[in-house]
Amino acid sequence: MNKEFKPISGREFPRFSAIKTFFRLPIAEIKENFDVALFGLPYDGGVSYRPGARFAPTQIRDASSLGRGFHMERGMALFEKLKIADIGDCPVVPIDQAQTYANIEKFAGQILDTGKKFISIGGDHSTTLPLLRAAKKKYGVPLNFIHFDAHLDTYPAAWGCEYHHGAFARHAVEESLVNPSKMLQIGIRGPLAGGDDLNFIEKHKIQVMTVDDIREKPLNEFLKTLPSFTGPTYISFDIDCLDPAFAPGTGTPVVGGLTTYETQKILRTLKIDHLVAADIVEVCPPYDTSQITSLAAVDVMFDLMCLMGLSK
Ligand code: MN
Ligand code: MN
Repeated sequence: MNKEFKPISGREFPRFSAIKTFFRLPIAEIKENFDVALFGLPYDGGVSYRPGARFAPTQIRDASSLGRGFHMERGMALFEKLKIADIGDCPVVPIDQAQTYANIEKFAGQILDTGKKFISIGGDHSTTLPLLRAAKKKYGVPLNFIHFDAHLDTYPAAWGCEYHHGAFARHAVEESLVNPSKMLQIGIRGPLAGGDDLNFIEKHKIQVMTVDDIREKPLNEFLKTLPSFTGPTYISFDIDCLDPAFAPGTGTPVVGGLTTYETQKILRTLKIDHLVAADIVEVCPPYDTSQITSLAAVDVMFDLMCLMGLSK
């Protein structure tokens, strides 16, 4: 395996060949000398509807065989700029969320302690909470938080359980892991379970950009309204911010969502001076068709890596 931290070239070895890693990058140990760790987080014990996100890391590794390294709009040769590796999967316990949360926090903490950044490929959205706990512990301050989603994820306990995939954002605010005044939710839309679902957002004055906000004027006009972020920032990308036409393979689809093109433009416009970590969640391969959803996730992954290449 090469340790130049470059993907296997598709011009030397066809993209359908070789053992599947994210973007055909080398497998590495956390302690090795590179900048960004990519890992799978195959846990879906927090889902409320369709299960199957545990299979996403394997599927996205496969789809990322088609991932390329030169960002045309940014003029950036990503793998010249950053050393990136696949460090495998975070250990999970499929029938025990408490043990899984402890494992995730420890695993992410080990990466951050070496001065690296990470991108986690989930898994359901309940996995973001322990990732944020690790990031808060490392940086010592509530993080700026950019959250792509159809859902607010600030909902109350369900079936007497606090830590499901629709509640992680509420816990992140309540535990002061993120700064609500530096928090942005993008792609939100209804219907909601009830009018009171918005109370938490209003109480904490969290900025929400709904699909209507994004669509009511030309896209270039909307992009100018995106805030910029200074200081340690985390991006969590729930694939269901996309319309089910663009991401059918997800656990709780909501129609009337964003196009892949709109999320590309948003990711390419965000100004973030210190992106420390990110995740992509809720890809559910058993409900995917023609790898549409996995390919969308691969594209988001590429833009997240490029955002890390632009930040300190
Ligand atoms: Mn979510
Ligand atoms: Mn969602």
